[in-house]
Amino acid sequence: MLEVKNLKKVYKTKNGTDVNALDGVSLRFPETGMVFLLGKSGSGKSTLLNVCGGLDSPSEGEIIVKGRSSKNFTQSDFDSYRNTFIGFIFQEYNILYEFSVEDNIALALELQGKPKDKAAINALLKEVDLQSFAKRKPNTLSGGQKQRVAIARALVKSPEIIMADEPTGALDSNTGKQVFETLKKLSRDKLVIVVSHDRDFAELYGDRIIELKDGKVISDLSKTKEQQHELTANISTVGDVLCVKRGSDLTDTDFEKIKSFLKNSDDNIIIANNEKDVKNFKKITRISDDGSKEVLCNTTEPSIKQYTERESRFIRSKLPLKHAVKIGVSSLRSKPIRLCFTVLLCTIAFTLFGLLSTLNFYDSHATFVQTMQDTNTSVMSIEKDYKTKVTGYSKGKKEYEYESYGTAKFTDSEYKKLSSALGSDAFGAFGVYNSFNLRQANSDYWINTISAFAVLPENHSLRGNINGEYPKAKDEIVISSYAADMIYNCKAYNSDGTGLELSEPQAIIGKKIVIGGFTYKVTGILDSGEIPAEYEALKENTEPNSSLAKKYNSFLEDGLHFLAFVTTERLEQIASENKPFIESIENYTYVAAALKTNGEYKLPEWSNANYINISSLNSNKTIIPISSNNNKPADNEVILSSSVFSEVVVQACNVITDSAGDNYEYAQKYYDISEIAYQVRDGGVYKHNSETDKDELVLFTDAELESKLSQLINAVKNNNLSLKLGVKLFDQYNNNSFGDTTELSIIGVYVEKDMTYANIALSEATFNRLWNEQKAITDYYSVTESNYKEKADALFTKIYLQFDYSEETVNSYWELYDNDDWNEDGSRIRLSGNFVDNLKMVDETVKQMSTIFLYVALVLAVFAILLFSNFISASISQKKKEIGILRAVGARSTDVFKIFFSESVIISILCVFLSTVASIVFCNIINNSLASGIGASLFVFGFSSLAVLITVALVTVVAATFLPVFNAAKKKPVDSIRAL
Ligand code: ADP
Ligand code: MG
Repeated sequence: MLEVKNLKKVYKTKNGTDVNALDGVSLRFPETGMVFLLGKSGSGKSTLLNVCGGLDSPSEGEIIVKGRSSKNFTQSDFDSYRNTFIGFIFQEYNILYEFSVEDNIALALELQGKPKDKAAINALLKEVDLQSFAKRKPNTLSGGQKQRVAIARALVKSPEIIMADEPTGALDSNTGKQVFETLKKLSRDKLVIVVSHDRDFAELYGDRIIELKDGKVISDLSKTKEQQHELTANISTVGDVLCVKRGSDLTDTDFEKIKSFLKNSDDNIIIANNEKDVKNFKKITRISDDGSKEVLCNTTEPSIKQYTERESRFIRSKLPLKHAVKIGVSSLRSKPIRLCFTVLLCTIAFTLFGLLSTLNFYDSHATFVQTMQDTNTSVMSIEKDYKTKVTGYSKGKKEYEYESYGTAKFTDSEYKKLSSALGSDAFGAFGVYNSFNLRQANSDYWINTISAFAVLPENHSLRGNINGEYPKAKDEIVISSYAADMIYNCKAYNSDGTGLELSEPQAIIGKKIVIGGFTYKVTGILDSGEIPAEYEALKENTEPNSSLAKKYNSFLEDGLHFLAFVTTERLEQIASENKPFIESIENYTYVAAALKTNGEYKLPEWSNANYINISSLNSNKTIIPISSNNNKPADNEVILSSSVFSEVVVQACNVITDSAGDNYEYAQKYYDISEIAYQVRDGGVYKHNSETDKDELVLFTDAELESKLSQLINAVKNNNLSLKLGVKLFDQYNNNSFGDTTELSIIGVYVEKDMTYANIALSEATFNRLWNEQKAITDYYSVTESNYKEKADALFTKIYLQFDYSEETVNSYWELYDNDDWNEDGSRIRLSGNFVDNLKMVDETVKQMSTIFLYVALVLAVFAILLFSNFISASISQKKKEIGILRAVGARSTDVFKIFFSESVIISILCVFLSTVASIVFCNIINNSLASGIGASLFVFGFSSLAVLITVALVTVVAATFLPVFNAAKKKPVDSIRAL
């Protein structure tokens, strides 16, 4: 059934010379019997066996199996050939250590696609004397036992050929003998090819002995029986042995025959007459009991048998997945550190992909709609931006330029147009932060803020929510129910500075309160809605920056709670007093001023006043004249804000009182003037609060401040305080003054409540002269310019719209939210509010994170692939022997593929699981840190994200596993086995 023709095998050695391991071997093997391949080490025995068994391919020549020539075999055909016909037994047993004895044997069966047949396996184990060893692991067996397992494995699929490469090489001679006995027994109905270098065993057991030397067959002998040749009735010969029958009475003829036999001898003759010696002798010289003798003579080639197609069909191996996974797992377990590292890095990479996909599934429109609904407010506000160009200079030289935005105002007609376009009951407001004059602020729950003053049109629906009357006079106001509750809880001051005692929040109606220095009469309370119970916690003082507190502040600011309602007339006044802040050069101007008394500047320098151009002073400021009635300063004149003026007076009085000596009466007058000046400077009077036992500043109303200022000016005039302002430029970076002193007469004062507006108003020419001087030395200043021209009747910085949650409304608001277009006049309308800002920030962050995550994830994915393939390569080199064994037993390269693939799949399942968990955790973290401000869970790690993650994992596995496994699987089995 097996024939080889002209086999040649050439190995290339490392130093480049060729080794002819087989050099033209042609043999035809018999159907059954025991064939020995004999020869010295290196003679080519193993090579021949491996080629015959399809573990190795010949360089030249062919093997013919049941009439099929190997010339047309693919690697897979060789595997199948082995799987079908051949049972291998190796010197090193080559059994799989992660399988039990039973499973080792079953594997060979299963590779043939046959089920694990327990009965058959047990029968086989009995045959090799291992009945009770079925469940044992190979490492608990002795060498001989292992080899018998290997034999049982070779036998289980009833192969027609058994090939054994020095099967007893690692065994002691007794055990070796047993193995040969077993093989001999099998050779009765199988072809057994055994490689050995032990001539005695070969001659003892072999039916045929093929001797190799240098890859060539140097002898090919088969055993035949030489029959006994009777010389006489008592004496016979077999070959060159003479036998004398037991108990013979030898005749003369017999002696003659013996004599002539002895004569031909060329060595000493031994005659033995005890049973033991004779028995041993017969055994060694292979004389059987019937007297015949086995002898070796040249082999005559057996005839060629014809096979049917059915008989020569190969069975393709099929490694059960269960076993592939088992081998995969055992391989993973053997490298825990490497496994952890691989899993860790892959998990990080996969997690990033998971997050990335989650971020990519983020839908800003859906989030917008969701958030609109979640915020649950009844009003939305709209603001108008305009573009500005900011140019930065350093010491007069341009350094940088950037675009910025300012807040523009809506005109009455614009707001009406918006209102009808959005189908909403709108009202306009002027945003400016103000606060009530409260006596105690006792928790984070009560936030003393008015964020905008608003005017409700005649027929506005919100008027129905007012308890009381809408303001009719300029000094009347409607406050929110939240503000009324706050005033009730935190106690406010009356306009005269005494405490306001209320029996209930509603009792504020009809009372006078001070807001931002102006006294209002409260005419009503607008129901600004319930405060959700979740914020109750803030009534106990918590840390002010807690996320709840922040959320609460946004909630209040985005609703009606921080609004106050006034007449249009009052709103116009507020608007004119609080021009939207425009960054300009004036903010960088400083003077160092000194007071000239008695012809000398005696005062310490102070530098916290800005000098401004008289034309940028608000036109409705009332200027109280001092030395002239002209409210436009000439080039040597100056108009001061009340804060600067009062400071100047305080300093002047100090000089006078310091030099007054014992003249107390004279000094007292100036102490009194100082006292008035302090009150003007501070904008109020310090009064003792018996509840807190502290001096607290009670602010003047505008009218009070104006009258105090007049009082001060009169005192200055009546006491002949001759004041002159010496102005020197101040270099704030080097903290020194520079240039010449400009001497200016103070011609008037205007009321300015806030010290941050401590201004010195100069004539245009003086201003420009000083500004040019200042520019040259100012390290950094910037100039803000814009093409946008505010319309004269523009009034509202904010438009509030009633909000319903219909799809139409939400979509028209979405357009405003998503609006990036600038109008022709350089302005842009946009949705405002804290949640809008938060959403925009989330949008922006998502975009940025997506990009960063994408790049990091890609880099890590490449790393993961490299790590993965490195891991698998390491596994392969570690598992090379197992692969070889499996291949020898009959597994095809696809089976090898299965093993390592299952290994990769196990790792990736682990990684997918871990990264899913990590992604969910990180989504929560992102939600908490990013989206808590808008109170929505924006990032949900859903099925689509999981799908992306699994896809990425699969791609990684395939990309990383394919190449190394492909390389390993396509290797010839013999190379795998040899890699020991
Ligand atoms: P044996 O089994 O009779 O001891 P082998 O068949 O193993 O001998 O080897 C025959 C010859 O081929 C030896 O000279 C050996 O060094 C050489 N040989 C075997 N395998 C390789 C190989 N993979 N690469 C190079 N030379 C080899
Ligand atoms: Mg060998």
